[in-house]
Amino acid sequence: MKQHIVDQLIADYPLYADQRLLELPDGWLGVVYDLFHDLYDLQLLSPIHADGAEPVKFVEVYWRQLQWPSHVLYVYPVLDAQHWTPEMSHRLVQAVSRFNEHAPRKCEVCGQPSASILKYQDGRRQQALCQKHLEERRWS
Ligand SMILES: [Zn+2]
Repeated sequence: MKQHIVDQLIADYPLYADQRLLELPDGWLGVVYDLFHDLYDLQLLSPIHADGAEPVKFVEVYWRQLQWPSHVLYVYPVLDAQHWTPEMSHRLVQAVSRFNEHAPRKCEVCGQPSASILKYQDGRRQQALCQKHLEERRWS
């Protein structure tokens, strides 16, 4: 992602966004926003949550780079079990699964649904792309 996009994510979701987002494709902005929104919503379900309280970080977020898909999301809890309910655990699993399912189906450039995966002959990482960006890349 471009620096100004990452800066905006850090401003909006300071508990979970950081400079490591620079490694993710631009087209993943929507799914990253959804993910961070889901992670902030977790605290609303917590037994320690009070209205108007400062946001609390429940998980640490990691992106593991792969050949395909581009990156996979991992999280681990940073608050001990007494802060969690079964519903929160379930919501977290849903949020992580949704991200890992949806992100690879987005065009890595624009975020539209991907049409195909472009494999490069020169060792570059393969990319999921929409029809428009697939055609642009074929000619470059
Ligand atoms: Zn595209």
